[in-house]
Amino acid sequence: MIVYDLSCPKDHRFESWFRNSNVVEKLIKAGQVVCPHCGSTKVQKAPMAPMIGKTSIAKSSDDAAAPQAPQPTGELTAAMEKAAEAFSELRKAIEKNFDNVGGKFAEEARRIHYGESEKRGIYGEATIKETKDLLDEGIEVLPLPRSRRSQAN
Ligand SMILES: [Zn+2]
Repeated sequence: MIVYDLSCPKDHRFESWFRNSNVVEKLIKAGQVVCPHCGSTKVQKAPMAPMIGKTSIAKSSDDAAAPQAPQPTGELTAAMEKAAEAFSELRKAIEKNFDNVGGKFAEEARRIHYGESEKRGIYGEATIKETKDLLDEGIEVLPLPRSRRSQAN
């Protein structure tokens, strides 16, 4: 599929998809390409290089004013920023409500699990092996991404 920018005598610009570049002229001559804004079939290729996979298939006049969808990369960035924000919020909540046990996380999690320590929410550092061992023992731990700023305490 290939998309072309087209224009009609009233200077409406629109895009249309074609199977390949060879059929464009044929379809225009046959009156198969219609301006979605005024219905004119006297359309011509707008002076612009054809682009593949630019936006969507030629729209009806109804949604011609619909807002342009953001570029996929922008969407992805926004999603990642949102996720980072959510993680940051989660982290803040944990740092506020949970006890920081630092490097003794695995030890303390185990003590809480076996009733040797006060039952409470804790957070701290644990190696992958420690985390795996805890999970193997049925101790619930939730790995958190490291925050960008390093914790001084
Ligand atoms: Zn038109």
